[in-house]
Amino acid sequence: QAKESGKNCFLFFRQYMNEKVSEKLELENKLRKAIKNEEFIVYYQPQIDIGTMQVKGVEALVRWNHPIEGIIQPAKFIPVAEESGLIVEIDEFVMRTACKQLKSWIDSDIEPVTISVNLTSKEFQQANFVDLLKEIINDTGLRADFIEIEITESLVMKDIDVTLPVLKDLKSMGVRISLDDFGTGYSSLNYLKRLPIDTIKIDKSFIDEITEDSKEEAIAESIIALAHKMNLSVVAEGIETKKQLEFIKEQKCDKAQGYYFSKPLPVDEIERLLSVPSIYIN
Ligand code: C2E
Ligand code: MG
Ligand code: MG
Ligand code: MG
Repeated sequence: QAKESGKNCFLFFRQYMNEKVSEKLELENKLRKAIKNEEFIVYYQPQIDIGTMQVKGVEALVRWNHPIEGIIQPAKFIPVAEESGLIVEIDEFVMRTACKQLKSWIDSDIEPVTISVNLTSKEFQQANFVDLLKEIINDTGLRADFIEIEITESLVMKDIDVTLPVLKDLKSMGVRISLDDFGTGYSSLNYLKRLPIDTIKIDKSFIDEITEDSKEEAIAESIIALAHKMNLSVVAEGIETKKQLEFIKEQKCDKAQGYYFSKPLPVDEIERLLSVPSIYIN
């Protein structure tokens, strides 16, 4: 009896694993087709300078505009895109699109902002990544210091001997470097001073703790103080309430990003927002 049910368990497990594997392969094939059919689009979320309450940057965030399913969020496809290496093509598209877009805004007299793009360790494993970015900068005619790349701690730590030289190359081109989701990874303060970064983004999970009745803001507070001691600029991610904004303002955080200001917007909507200066004065 017990042996029978053990066998059944195993059969279920095997069936479950087979389904998981084929689901992944199916998604991978769909992604390949989506790249070919150019189904990816870029949304932009504003980053607000807390001192002036003006938009000082936008983060480019990819969306899959599926012909039947509609807009698909990155959480649904980035992991498989990363595992399969397809992310490299998707991110090249995002970088090109975002840089071209920013250049066209600047040319049409919209107040210049920085553009942030997210990268994965896959890009850093490409021998020609720095050349690719140089090419994009050349093609679009955008100044390198308008571009900021967002990387995570785990990306850096995956192979620091590979990532560090790439980061230094990017830095010497004038590209800015931002450490995304800070506090969720290894958080070794030891390597932080070795990295040529300009900005730290406090992860949303620490911002979430700043609520009406909590005294748990210690981590956000410490990250801001630490960053400033190292002459880094700080962005708070996931600001959803006035209370959270007031807290990080008190702590002299430099920039804020979150639904309190705006969700990531399609290009026509962000363009409208960027065309109206001082939109967030309150
Ligand atoms: P991320 O880089 O940390 O981006 C911030 C995410 O938090 C975005 O989700 C954004 O929409 C969301 N967010 C911002 N403010 C708030 C808020 O106030 N409340 C809540 N609940 N969420 C907020 P999104 O666009 O779904 O992207 C998720 C993640 O997918 C990104 O995290 C990034 O790691 C990855 N990703 C997105 N676009 C790209 C891309 O073009 N390339 C790569 N490699 N990764 C990307
Ligand atoms: Mg990011
Ligand atoms: Mg983040
Ligand atoms: Mg993230």
